[in-house]
Amino acid sequence: MVSSVTRAAWQPLDFDSRSHPVLIASAGDELESYDPATGELVAKVQLSTADDVSRTCEIARRAAHIGGWRNDGARRARVLFRWAERIRADSERLAELLTREQGKTIGQARGEVASCINMIEYNAGLARAIYGRSMALKEGVHGVVLREPVGVVAAITPWNYPLNLTIRAIAPALAAGNAVIVKPASLTPAIVLSALSLIGDDELPEGIVSAVVGPGSTVGERLVTDPNVDMIAFTGDSSTGVNVMKSAAEGLKKVSLELGGKSPNIVFADANLEKAIAGAENAIFSAAGQICTAGSRLLVEDSIHDEFIDRMAARAKDLRIGDGLDPSTEMGPLVSADQKRTVLDYIEIGRRDGTVVAGGVALEDAPHDRGHFVAPTIITDVAPDSRLLAEEVFGPVLAVQTFSSEEEAVELANATTFGLACGLWTSNLDRAWRVGRAVEAGTIWINTYHHFYAETEVGGFKRSGVGRQQGIEGLLEFTETKHLNFDSNPTLW
Ligand code: NDP
Repeated sequence: MVSSVTRAAWQPLDFDSRSHPVLIASAGDELESYDPATGELVAKVQLSTADDVSRTCEIARRAAHIGGWRNDGARRARVLFRWAERIRADSERLAELLTREQGKTIGQARGEVASCINMIEYNAGLARAIYGRSMALKEGVHGVVLREPVGVVAAITPWNYPLNLTIRAIAPALAAGNAVIVKPASLTPAIVLSALSLIGDDELPEGIVSAVVGPGSTVGERLVTDPNVDMIAFTGDSSTGVNVMKSAAEGLKKVSLELGGKSPNIVFADANLEKAIAGAENAIFSAAGQICTAGSRLLVEDSIHDEFIDRMAARAKDLRIGDGLDPSTEMGPLVSADQKRTVLDYIEIGRRDGTVVAGGVALEDAPHDRGHFVAPTIITDVAPDSRLLAEEVFGPVLAVQTFSSEEEAVELANATTFGLACGLWTSNLDRAWRVGRAVEAGTIWINTYHHFYAETEVGGFKRSGVGRQQGIEGLLEFTETKHLNFDSNPTLW
């Protein structure tokens, strides 16, 4: 099904370092971002040069040592709470910009903005609750173990949840007392810079938050290798993550890597089928499949396979696909023409290695003719050695396999180099516990999918990442421990 809406005229935004409070850029050239539903120009952003990156890192290094920031949790909490409040007051504008620049539906964009406010407030609360421990080590000797900020954190973020994934990295980094430098994805700089422009505060020292803009291969790489950067918080593709880790290794920098996935979504015959079908649809077609945790491998117990797939395929054909600004749209476009080509190439692989039972085509007639739309696609009977089962598509393409026992389900679920997430649909609590423990993934959703909480850690096993974000562990990633050792022997004082 299609959806369409008459849009209000859009005046492209213009960001440069003179008018933006934290952008550091001096290049004569600009980066342009475009609406993936219509091809309209959304924003122009002045690019940062290599010298801008070095200068930004030097400024951040000096700021990271400001005692009134790194040692004052209450001040950091106030700054973060006020930032959350300003984002809240500007939510509707930010959500519209997010849809225009990234393509997701306006409902999902509102949800992303709300989750950012929640993430900032959660970390603002934690800013005053970072503590170490003290020990009597032996007679007259005391150890005090402190949690200190790492120093300068570079946050390099992707385009699929540009706001959420930037804030998920920098809110805890700031709460822990670091200085941060943001490098947004080149496809979605405007939404990130718009949210960052709201952080200005009398209590925020200059240089604690800055942003640079430009290609990952130059600006991003330069940031990773700059000697003034202590830690890289990278979210993106696994192969880029490998390169980032290699480059960071030269300076022995700390890394946090949130990478790709090929997550299994396992449906047992004893599941509530109605809920499991809706859950499987949400797992793969939400945000047009451009979610790191997308349930892109559906494992269905063989006794329910045919009914399950028939019902899911019928729903996929009914999804309303169109402009994310139309409130009736259920699935928007892919982010770019390149992403659409990549997804269509994987569909061709699926056509060779399996059976396409829904979608399998680009949508190119009006009202989809100006955007990057691909129909929600379901491919069954996929050959076990197909690249469709091994590689992340990052689009609305579901690969289906069947299993006949719990053991086989676990084996298939773990037959991947990734380990980000997994869905389980069953009415048997013992089974949920057993399978949940056996699957190698950082998040296991049981009779639900894609629910995130600021309080609970996320991250990947295997090629899906290093370290954790969110929750208390996510904040502690941005700290180092330091042991202060006191010997009270009077002859030493
Ligand atoms: P990329 O890895 O292509 O890019 C991510 C960021 O890294 C961008 O800002 C990019 O800049 C930058 N970059 C690219 N090359 C380098 C480099 N050599 N050095 C430093 N920075 C670099 O990912 P995408 O933007 O395409 O995002 C999609 C990917 O992100 C998917 O694989 C998805 O699974 C993953 N992801 C993981 C999540 C998780 O929590 N585990 C969450 C969301 C997404 P530029 O834009 O200029 O190329």
